[in-house]
Amino acid sequence: MSETAQSGRPALSSPHNPSQNHLLAALPVAEFERLAENLELVPLPLGEILYEPNGRLQYAYFPTTAIVSLHYVMESGASAETAGVGNEGVVGIALFMGGDTTPSSAVVHTAGHAYRLAGRLLKLEFNRAGLMQQSMLLYTQALIAQISQTAACNRHHAVEQQLCRWLLLTLDRLHSNDLVMTQELVASMLGVRREGVTEAAGNLQRAGCISYRRGHIAVLDRAGLESRTCECYAAARKEISALSAGRDYSVSHGHPTSQN
Ligand SMILES: [Zn+2]
Repeated sequence: MSETAQSGRPALSSPHNPSQNHLLAALPVAEFERLAENLELVPLPLGEILYEPNGRLQYAYFPTTAIVSLHYVMESGASAETAGVGNEGVVGIALFMGGDTTPSSAVVHTAGHAYRLAGRLLKLEFNRAGLMQQSMLLYTQALIAQISQTAACNRHHAVEQQLCRWLLLTLDRLHSNDLVMTQELVASMLGVRREGVTEAAGNLQRAGCISYRRGHIAVLDRAGLESRTCECYAAARKEISALSAGRDYSVSHGHPTSQN
C-alpha cells in the first residue's frame, strides 16, 4: 500500500521539496514516507560550515539547491576540495559507514537549501537493509571515485583545466550560469595559490568563456570550457550518470511530492 498525503509533507506548490534531491527522490514510497516527516528544510548560506574536521556528525544533509564542498584541511590551514556534493548526493556518509566522524570539513560553496535528517534516523533506515542502504552505498562508491579522481587531477592537470572542470561540475548542479564565487574561494577549493586562479580565470575571460567581476563568475561559453577542461570532467559526469542509472527503483515509481 502506498498511502499518500500525510501531515508534515510540503504542499505540492512549495518551491521546496525533498524530491529535488535525487537520493531522496529515488527512494521507494514506503521508505520515503518513513523519513519524510523527519526531514527538515534548512537554508545553507555561503560559507556555512556543516562540520569541522574530526567533529561528531549530528545530521546528514541532502542538498536540493545548495552545493557543499568537502575539504581536507592541513595543519597549516591550507585546504583543498576533495569532492563536491549537490542534489545528487548526501553530506555525512560517515554516519552510516560507522565512523561518526570524518577528517574532512564540509563547507557550503553555493548558497541554497538542503533537507537535514538526524544521524540516528539515517542509521536506523540504513540498517533496515532496504533500497535506501543500496542507494547510499552506490553513492558512497561514486563519492570515492570522485575523491580519487580529484587527487589525480590536482597532481597532473593544469590549473586552467581544473578550473574548467570545477566550473562545469558546479554549473551542472545549478539552474543558472552565474556563480557567486570569489577567486580566493576557488583557490581554496582547488588547493592552489590565488595567483594561479587569477591567471587561469584571466585566460578564460580573454577567450570569452567566462566573465568575471568581483564575487561573480558568469559562464558565457560552456562549450569553450568543455573544450579546455581535462578528461576528468567527462569521467565525473559518467560517474554521476551511472549513479542515476543504478537506481532502477527510481522516481518513476513516484512519491506524491515528486510530482508537479
Ligand atoms: Zn583533471
